[in-house]
Amino acid sequence: MTPVHRDELWIGGAWVPPESSERIGVENPYTEEVFGHVPAGTAEDVDLAVSAARAALPGWADLPAADRGAALGRLHRALAARADEIARIVGLELGTPLKIAKAVQAGLPLTVLAGYAELAAQPWAQETIGNSLVVHEPVGVIGAITPWNYPLHQVVAKVGAALAAGNTVVLKPSEMTPLVAFLLADAAAEADLPAGVLNLVSGTGPVVGAAIAGHPDIDMVSFTGSTATGRAISHAAADRVARVSLELGGKSANVILEDADLVKAVKVGVGNAFLNSGQTCTAWTRMLVHRSHYDEAVELAAKTAAGYTLGDPFDPATRLGPLASAGQRDRVRGFIERASARLVAGGLDAPVPATGHFVAPTVFADVDPDSELAQEEIFGPVLSIIGFDSDDEAVAIANNSRYGLAGAVWGSDERALAVARRLRTGAVDVNGGAFNPFAPFGGYKQSGIGRELGAYGLAEFQQVKAIQR
Ligand code: NAD
Repeated sequence: MTPVHRDELWIGGAWVPPESSERIGVENPYTEEVFGHVPAGTAEDVDLAVSAARAALPGWADLPAADRGAALGRLHRALAARADEIARIVGLELGTPLKIAKAVQAGLPLTVLAGYAELAAQPWAQETIGNSLVVHEPVGVIGAITPWNYPLHQVVAKVGAALAAGNTVVLKPSEMTPLVAFLLADAAAEADLPAGVLNLVSGTGPVVGAAIAGHPDIDMVSFTGSTATGRAISHAAADRVARVSLELGGKSANVILEDADLVKAVKVGVGNAFLNSGQTCTAWTRMLVHRSHYDEAVELAAKTAAGYTLGDPFDPATRLGPLASAGQRDRVRGFIERASARLVAGGLDAPVPATGHFVAPTVFADVDPDSELAQEEIFGPVLSIIGFDSDDEAVAIANNSRYGLAGAVWGSDERALAVARRLRTGAVDVNGGAFNPFAPFGGYKQSGIGRELGAYGLAEFQQVKAIQR
């Protein structure tokens, strides 16, 4: 495997040497080999990037919308030209099977960025309320901190929206999957994005992430990751009353009502739960099934799970890749080990490939809704099945979570819609409604604050001002 080494940071429109010579190795979770590295950035690198972003802010914010749209259009085209490389790099650093890497890890951010290029070209909303002219303005310098599970999508959801809204950005991608973000910086260089509008500082959470969260000259921190880190970032930003948006964890329910198309609901549900090896914040990790279909659903889910082909992410036959790291695998194995429910597929003794951080697709039935299995975000290919007797009970179990990110309901249209409205989550898919990359995305409860994607995502990065006349 050709190594992928990045030795400089993208700051102020140039590749600059980092302040420290320390590096972070990037592991391939299938071969378990370190195949690349990026700079371990420091607080000094963050200072430099924030100064560059601050200096670039007035010029970028005052640009006519058409010009900002054109710049983001160029960024999109430069990134789209790298689609194959994006899929390859995410395959290497995260272990996403190639087909999904192409469709989701590369395809989704390209769709999202194209949308933001279009939105950027439209003047920001303004309206008249009585004697007030209400105008929208950028928040300022944005710190963006992202996780490893959809490493380019999570970056683009922030960078695209923030830039379209006239802000400038200092980005810190996850240290586990930092390489794909460097492709965005390459695209910014090629697209001639004005200097300092986008800055990239790779590094660890406690060093670069904490420097961003606590930086006096960063106006807003946009974070995606775990609820624990989101809390720490909120605390740091609170000292200077900086705005925070948080996209955090989830424990979403897939509610299969009495009158659902059972086979479709179970098959799509299992596929959703195991997408990206279960490392998806919106994953429907709790399958709630009406008692009249319960045994059939358990049998079908177990059979579907057992049918997955595990292996090399670059082998076209592979449907499930490894988990992102040894630590993540061990964490997931711990949940399986401690579980007291009925194991119907997978488990710790199921065969997995000889190399790679694999966990076999695992299904538990008869899961206690209050147990660790049903309450904690596992972030691996582990599905919990729970029975219910009425729509009311299904809603109560689904809402019995400190999270509220996503979910699904299957049943006759009116009835499923009525249940969907009662779920306390930021999104619900009814009868297999497809993910919409332009609809608002975000969490209720401890799943987060604020919304990403589309026009709602753009508004998150704006201030409103009332001018009275
Ligand atoms: P994480 O919270 O450990 O790390 C996320 C990012 O925060 C990384 O870039 C990390 O370096 C940084 N970080 C860590 N400690 C920090 C600190 N003290 N200060 C500032 N930054 C710090 O999360 P992860 O393990 O990378 O990602 C998995 C989690 O992300 C899961 O819980 C998942 O549910 C969540 N997630 C949520 C969404 C969503 O949109 N709601 C999407 C994807 C993932």
